[in-house]
Amino acid sequence: MRDICQVRRIRCGNVNCYLVEGPDGALLVDTGRMGQRQQVLDICRCAGKRVTLLVLTHGHVDHVQNAAFLAEALGVPIAMSRADASLAEDNLSRTLEARGILGRGVLAASVRSFRKDSIPEFTPSVWLEEGDRLDGYGVPARVLALPGHTRGSAGLDLPGGHTLVGDALMNMAAPGLSLLYEDRAALLESGKKLTALGDRTIWFGHGRPAKNRVWR
Ligand SMILES: [Zn+2]
Repeated sequence: MRDICQVRRIRCGNVNCYLVEGPDGALLVDTGRMGQRQQVLDICRCAGKRVTLLVLTHGHVDHVQNAAFLAEALGVPIAMSRADASLAEDNLSRTLEARGILGRGVLAASVRSFRKDSIPEFTPSVWLEEGDRLDGYGVPARVLALPGHTRGSAGLDLPGGHTLVGDALMNMAAPGLSLLYEDRAALLESGKKLTALGDRTIWFGHGRPAKNRVWR
């Protein structure tokens, strides 16, 4: 079927980015860390469809560190939520909370990374909002606003039952709501919204894909 999208998971250490190929183009979703940038670029250049847009699910360094490099190398615009643009300039500008022992460990590692890992400056030119469609970039994706992990977190819902969720959900020890959040109540609402999508394969910013379920 012509409108089915192919999702390819690109593992960059403990974080994923994704190549989403549609009928008339491809999206690169997130960018991984500096050490993986050539690997990600090579995969994009070998894709069956030309990459037309770099989509950032949110502003944390492990997702955006290669944004400037990859957008320049691929000659594509950068899309993200306006609410996370300032976060991408300074990951320490907002406070994250954690749940559980694993969450506290992940938070400590994240804060260490926020302190030491710089984000080369980049300029988004496409602002993602709930319900936006990316058909103009050759991929029939619909934007989902998924606030909570960060206030500007966004995901993509694709034909064929694939949903990319950034860090709104995580699959570290097990699939679940994000272990880290700026706003717990908003995160719970985003979980309900994803549950309501029904039969989907969920592609996480961290960990292997899993079936959609009740997220709480
Ligand atoms: Zn994150």
